[in-house]
Amino acid sequence: MPTNIILLGPPGAGKGTQARKLIEDHGMVQLSTGDMLREARASGTKTGQRVAEMMDRGELVTDEIVINLIRERLTVGGPGFIFDGFPRTLAQADALGSLLEEQGQAIAAVIEIKVDDTQLVARISGRFTCGGCGEVYHDRTRPTQTVGTCDVCGSDRLLRRADDNAESLKVRLLEYYKKTSPLIGYFWRDGNLHRVDGLASIETVSSEVNRVMRDHISTRCSHDDVGCASAPPA
Ligand code: AMP
Repeated sequence: MPTNIILLGPPGAGKGTQARKLIEDHGMVQLSTGDMLREARASGTKTGQRVAEMMDRGELVTDEIVINLIRERLTVGGPGFIFDGFPRTLAQADALGSLLEEQGQAIAAVIEIKVDDTQLVARISGRFTCGGCGEVYHDRTRPTQTVGTCDVCGSDRLLRRADDNAESLKVRLLEYYKKTSPLIGYFWRDGNLHRVDGLASIETVSSEVNRVMRDHISTRCSHDDVGCASAPPA
């Protein structure tokens, strides 16, 4: 069975960065609703324009739009999905559960990346990414080695998100606490919630995430599971 995991956490917690590590380490498939919505807004359609308005205000996009985007991608299949920034509401969590169940799949683990608010403001306000390969940088804590050029792919398309500003972040955090943080209890109730300290270094967080995956998978291991290091239980 594919190993599907959810990365849960406020904006700036490092979900995207950890998703990239999981792709490198395990070949998993990232489903980032933020990325999908940025594509939708760039399409210039009527829905795209509505999406852009909601995103720029820092508000969550409607469940209907987001669930439809996920539904379209879930048919792709693969070694396991990393849900990055989805679900963000209880309705989305219910919908994801049903969509996976229809395909005989489930969520293997939910990993909450915890970071306090003061750190989030600092992280988000200096963040930029490479438009070529998606590598994430920060003005102060992780600048590029050569100004204006991505260390990984050499692209000079370094981008700052329109919603990475203090005003929009305030709304994004409020949305997180109001609508997304109830999911912590939702998944905890299922016995599926794991917590990692998002203030640690990228490498430390990554090894914690891998530990959760390993420990979790060892209880339900089968030969083709991603990251399956131990033999299946007898
Ligand atoms: P992200 O890239 O995950 O930080 O998402 C950027 C923005 O896209 C959010 O502030 C929301 O406006 C929107 N968004 C992303 N994922 C979702 C979701 N699952 N539900 C609703 N809105 C979302």
